[in-house]
Amino acid sequence: MGTYSRRRTDRQRLDMVEKQIRRRGVADERVLEAMSLVPRHRFVPKAQFSAAYADCALPIGHGVTISQPYVVAMMTEALRAGPGIRVLEIGTGSGYQAAVLGACGAEVFSIERIPELHRRAERLLEEIGCGDIALRLGDGSRGWPERAPFDRILVTAAAPDVPAPLREQLADGGLLVAPVGDDWLQTVRRYRKMGASFEYEELEGVRFVPLIVNSDESSE
Ligand code: SAH
Repeated sequence: MGTYSRRRTDRQRLDMVEKQIRRRGVADERVLEAMSLVPRHRFVPKAQFSAAYADCALPIGHGVTISQPYVVAMMTEALRAGPGIRVLEIGTGSGYQAAVLGACGAEVFSIERIPELHRRAERLLEEIGCGDIALRLGDGSRGWPERAPFDRILVTAAAPDVPAPLREQLADGGLLVAPVGDDWLQTVRRYRKMGASFEYEELEGVRFVPLIVNSDESSE
């Protein structure tokens, strides 16, 4: 990529942060800084290149999407992730959200069930270098028991409820942010685990692709 187009994407990205994110109320400087650094255009398919900084979700193949920039920012801010914080993400997709968390300084663990997306994200994140990020191919609704507990868990696919293994793998005092609802409309909830209590507050309405839960192999 030439200098001209690099400057152009830098400018588009700063514009995105100002107009779509800061202006809508995201104030966490760490999140704003991370999103002005991570090259979002690298995480979208070539056919979507010109829309990489637009105010919307974009298809990335396999029927799934990279989330709208504002939604990534809002959920990252809600998660309160920073240096020294261990974060589990369910639904790596393009790897963009993982990169933003990595750029915030968090130690990131992210799971994706579609092999092609997992491989592509792995290559890209290694090439770009967005911090401390470990990826795994598998069913994220089971969490990542070998690496638990996590200080934070971010679910980036929609489900009617939070799968039990994720609640269990959240550290005491930890936060879990997830879009909860049906396939069409969900509300982002922020749960806090305090001993035996798992209470939530509702943040904003969103629309994510569904979390696929394979109940056939359920160990419960
Ligand atoms: N965070 C992503 C976007 C998420 S789209 C990004 O920044 O690009 C939701 C993703 O969740 C899709 O890639 C989908 O394949 C994945 N997914 C759905 N159910 C899953 C499951 N049970 N385990 C792991 N990944 C899952």
